[in-house]
Amino acid sequence: MSSVHPKLIESLVNQTPRAMVAMLIVSCAYFWIFMPFVPLAYLTIWLAFQVLLAAYRLHNAKSFTYYLAQQDQNNLTRNEKYFIASNVFQAFMWNASSVLSIIYAPQPFELVSFVMSIGIITAAALSMSSLYRAYLTFFFCMIIPQIVIMIYYGQHQHTGLVVLAIIYIPATILLSKAIHDSRLSSIQAHDELKRSVEELHHLSTIDNLTNVHNRRYFFEVSQKLIALATREKTSVSLLMLDIDFFKSINDNYGHQAGDFILKELANSIGKTLRESDVFARIGGEEFTILLNRTSLDEAANIAENIRNAIETKSFIKDGLSMDITISIGISELCQKHASIESLYQHADQQLYIAKNNGRNRVAYKKSDMLLVQKAMA
Ligand code: GH3
Ligand code: MG
Ligand code: MG
Repeated sequence: MSSVHPKLIESLVNQTPRAMVAMLIVSCAYFWIFMPFVPLAYLTIWLAFQVLLAAYRLHNAKSFTYYLAQQDQNNLTRNEKYFIASNVFQAFMWNASSVLSIIYAPQPFELVSFVMSIGIITAAALSMSSLYRAYLTFFFCMIIPQIVIMIYYGQHQHTGLVVLAIIYIPATILLSKAIHDSRLSSIQAHDELKRSVEELHHLSTIDNLTNVHNRRYFFEVSQKLIALATREKTSVSLLMLDIDFFKSINDNYGHQAGDFILKELANSIGKTLRESDVFARIGGEEFTILLNRTSLDEAANIAENIRNAIETKSFIKDGLSMDITISIGISELCQKHASIESLYQHADQQLYIAKNNGRNRVAYKKSDMLLVQKAMA
C-alpha cells in the first residue's frame, strides 16, 4: 500500500504542469547556451527526450489523479514507482548534459551546467517534496554525478564547488524534509478540523436521549426533500405523533421510566421505517415522520400500523410493564400545504383532532387538493 497521504499526491499532481514548464524552459536555455559547442544532433535528441519526459510526467500525474479517485492503492504504489523511475531518467538526462558540456564546451562552461543542476535540484525541492522518497532519489542521482564531474576537472575552483555541493547536501535534504513535513502537518490539521466539524454537525442533528434526529435536522432535511418532491411531482406525507397522557407516566412511574419509554418508542418506530423516511423527535414526547414517496392513504396505513404496534407493545423496565398509546395527525403535500411549515401545522391540527376525539387514534383530512394524485412507485 502506498504510505503517502492522498493529499500529498494531489499536491504533487498540482505542481506537475508548472514544474514541467520550468523544466522545458531550462532545457531550451541549455540548448541555446551550448548550441555553439555541442553538435546540434546531440542537442536535438537530448531536447526531444526532455519533451517526451515532460509529456510522460503529465501522463503520470493524470494517472495519479485517476487512481486516487478510484482509491486504487496497488496502482498508486505502482505509479509512484514509475514516477521515481522517470525522475532517475530525468537526473540521467541532466548528467548527460553535463557530460556533453565537458566533452564539447570550453571552460568555464562546466560551471554553467553545474549551476543549472543546482538550480534544478533546488526547484525540485519545492515541486517534489510531497513525495519525499522520490525527491531524495532524484537529489542523489543529480548531485553525486555533479560532484564526480567537478572532481574530474580537479582544479582549485572545481574542488571549491565540490565542498559547496557537500555542504549543500544536508541543507537541501533538511529543506525538502521541512517542506514535506509542513505540507503533511497542514493536511493532517485540515483533516482533523474537517472530522471535528462533521462530528459536531452530526451531534447537532441528533437527539441525545433517543438517538433519533432532532427538530433542527428534521426541518433542514424536510425542506430539501419537499423541494425535490415538488420538482419531481412525487407524494410526501407527514406524520406527527404524540404520546397520550405521558405526563401521568412520569407522575406514576417516575421521570426515568418516562425516558425509557421515549427511547424504546423511538427505537421500535425507527426499525419499521425506510431509509428514505425522516424520523425525528421534535419536542418532549412528540415525534415527526416525513414519509417520502407516500400518499395520504398509504401514510394512513403506516400510521395505523404504528399506532397499533405501540398500543399492543408492553414497555418493560425493571420487571415493571407499562402500556402507552399514541395519537397521530397526518398531512400530505398539496397546493394548500406546499411547504414544510404548512405541512407541519396541518399535521399538528390533525393531531389535535385525534386528541380531542379520544386519543389513541389517527386523524387526517382528505379534501385538500393534491399536487400529485398518485404516488410514484
Ligand atoms: P396528551 O395526551 O394531551 O398529549 O397528554 P400529555 O400528558 O402527554 O401531554 P403534556 O404535554 O401535558 O405532557 C407532556 C409531558 O411530557 C410533560 C413532560 O413532563 C413530559 N416530558 C417532556 N419531555 C420529557 C423527557 O425528555 N423525559 C420525560 N421523562 N418526560 C418528558
Ligand atoms: Mg402527549
Ligand atoms: Mg405533547
